[in-house]
Amino acid sequence: MTMDNPFEGKEIWFGVGSQDLYGEEALRQVAQQSREIVDALNASGRIPVKLVLKETLRSSDGVRRFMVDASADDACIGVVTWMHTFSPAKMWIRGLEALKKPLLQLNTQHHFEIPWETIDMDFMNLNQAAHGDREYGYIVTRLGIPRKIVVGHYTDPAVADKIGTWARACAGWDASTHMNVMRWGDNMRNVAVTEGDKTEAERVFGASINTWAVNELVAAYDAVKDDQVKEIIEDYKAKYEVAPSLLDTDYESLFIAAKEEAAMVNMMRANGCTAGVDNFEDLGALPQLPGVAAQRFPAGYGWGFSAEGDWKTAVLVRIGNVMGYGLEGGASLMEDYSYNFTPGNEMIMGSHMLEVSPSVGTIAKPTLEIHPLGIGGKADPVRLVFTVAPKKDAVVVSLADVRERFRLLMNVVDVVEPLGDLKELPCARALWKPEPNLEVSAECWLRGGGSHHTCMTTSVGREAWEDFARIAGVELATIDADTTPRAFERELELEDVYHRLNNKH
Ligand code: MN
Repeated sequence: MTMDNPFEGKEIWFGVGSQDLYGEEALRQVAQQSREIVDALNASGRIPVKLVLKETLRSSDGVRRFMVDASADDACIGVVTWMHTFSPAKMWIRGLEALKKPLLQLNTQHHFEIPWETIDMDFMNLNQAAHGDREYGYIVTRLGIPRKIVVGHYTDPAVADKIGTWARACAGWDASTHMNVMRWGDNMRNVAVTEGDKTEAERVFGASINTWAVNELVAAYDAVKDDQVKEIIEDYKAKYEVAPSLLDTDYESLFIAAKEEAAMVNMMRANGCTAGVDNFEDLGALPQLPGVAAQRFPAGYGWGFSAEGDWKTAVLVRIGNVMGYGLEGGASLMEDYSYNFTPGNEMIMGSHMLEVSPSVGTIAKPTLEIHPLGIGGKADPVRLVFTVAPKKDAVVVSLADVRERFRLLMNVVDVVEPLGDLKELPCARALWKPEPNLEVSAECWLRGGGSHHTCMTTSVGREAWEDFARIAGVELATIDADTTPRAFERELELEDVYHRLNNKH
């Protein structure tokens, strides 16, 4: 019950631009220095996906072949380009037009400093990325192709970190474009913001979102073997503090909860799904609203999950967990619940009736508990109770369907410790101080039409989501330390104009 490594078997292709003008000896040095750079970046340990150096690109046909192959290769999830020398950019047009993978323009060079005493014209001719990358940058901009730009010497850890974050976003995009989302039940009745256009979502994000009848889940539940249930219960005991009653008088409830998890997992696996949603209004003959099972989708399996039929947040949680793989923290459904207006300690408490996942990190070992639930009309559900661990520069991200497009809305937040023990609260919760402060954050969130459901991500931060949004071509409005309501309102208006003009579909 661990998440599959989403980076395994994946590659980022590294294409170096030059031209034939310089002769064989110069091209030999270009290839050798490119090899040194790629090897150093791979050895940095800061880029989770392997960079693969390809043959130096010297012609229009060569560039086109490189881009077509990168686009067709399932292992390749992104392309880095760097102009070692001057590579006349018209030779990049046909290739860039054929590229279907995320693009990063690296603006680096082999030498760290100008060799003041020895630099001559030969050295200048060989090492002119500052020149060549500008020629190339022009054509990428002219073609309107989105890309991340990273500037700096390749030995600088900050350069490798930026490439690494982008590689995580590429993996998130790869996961998004291969995602199958399992819906058990439709959207919660009458709720607006969790609705959306599933057909458009598949065009934009590549995620295929479909429904399976709850009757099928009930049949899968009936078919679960006891051994699988007991194995899951053993995993609960290993990872959580299990309330004594659940191992005694309430053991049947624990068994049912684990059996529901087994049924859901079996259906997900049988259908190749990596994100799921349920709805408390549509549970068929299931005995409990899934609690611990839903919480373990992100934490145990690395899958997305959201409640009340909110498939958009489930998609984000899956992407967040892929982007953050291997880092401390993770991604989970979150829901704004309650404000603390104490001056100097303004904060938001987020929670959900059951489904917040310990994937985002917990202060103490989660406890597995059973409590009544006032809605849904089912048996008392078993759920994990915990408080999310403090984390600076976490984010909450929501995805809203704003009629003609999707909008991602992100707030940079600091997760903090609660000011009391919350001992009467029978569900998982997080406290956070939003940037720049509660008043501005909430005003801008409301202005932007953000959802009450969000994906909280404590592993990767804003940069990964910015890279992801650029790759996906989706609007991203960010509320951060520099946000003011007046400027944010204007930014939304400009975004509206931009995305209408830029809509190529
Ligand atoms: Mn909700």
